[in-house]
Amino acid sequence: MRVPLLMQNSIDSQPGVSGGHEEGGFVLRDANGNVSVSRWQQGEQDRIILPTYQDCRFEGQEIIATLHTHPNTGGNYLQEPSETDKRAVRDDPNLKAAFYEGELVISQEKIYLIESNGQVREIGDTRIILQVDLEGTMAAVLTPDVLQDDIAVSLARAIAAANKRARDSGVDVLQSIITITQRALDGDTLWRINYGPREYIGRRGGDLIVEVDSSDSSIKQVLRGQ
Ligand SMILES: [Zn+2]
Repeated sequence: MRVPLLMQNSIDSQPGVSGGHEEGGFVLRDANGNVSVSRWQQGEQDRIILPTYQDCRFEGQEIIATLHTHPNTGGNYLQEPSETDKRAVRDDPNLKAAFYEGELVISQEKIYLIESNGQVREIGDTRIILQVDLEGTMAAVLTPDVLQDDIAVSLARAIAAANKRARDSGVDVLQSIITITQRALDGDTLWRINYGPREYIGRRGGDLIVEVDSSDSSIKQVLRGQ
C-alpha cells in the first residue's frame, strides 16, 4: 500500500507555504532500552518551546535525541536549522550527556541533524526517507502522526547504534560527514550510515559504513569504503 503524498514530512505540522505550526519532541530511552517520543506542546508557526528537563533526562528517561519540524515551505522561510536552533542545542548544559545524539530537524525537503557541538549535517531527503520507510515496514497501518514519531525513533536509535560502532572502530564522529540512506536487504529495510572525513578535498576513500536494521536497530554489517 502506497500513501505517497501523505508522506510530506510533517503532516501534523500542516506544512505549507505558511500557516502551519511546529511540532517537536524528546526521543527518550527508558531503563530497559525502550525508545519512544514524548511530544512537546504544539508550537507556533515558526517557533516552539520545550518543556523543562534536566541532566539530559525527562521524566526519568534519557533524552537520546530531540526533534522539531520546519513546516513553512515558502521561499521567505529558511529550511535548514536556524542560528537559534543551533545555539540552543550547542549551549544547553542539559543536553550534554554522551548518549545525546543531537536534534533532528525535519523540513519539507531534508532532514538535518544538529550535533551537540552545534554543527549541522544534512542526513537525508525527507520524502525518500519517509516513503521508503513506509513501504519497507508495516507503517501503512499507522497514522501519519504516529509514523512521523516512528521514523524519528528509528532514526535516533540507528544513529545512536551506528555512532557507537563508529567510535569503537576509531572514527572521529565529530569530524565526519554523515549521510544516511535506506536500502533493502533480504526483505529487511536497513539504514546505511556513512562516515566520511570532513576534510575530503585531496583525499579518497576512508569511509566507514554501518548498516542498521530499521526495525530493531541491530547492526547488520560494517563496511569500509575505499
Ligand atoms: Zn527550527
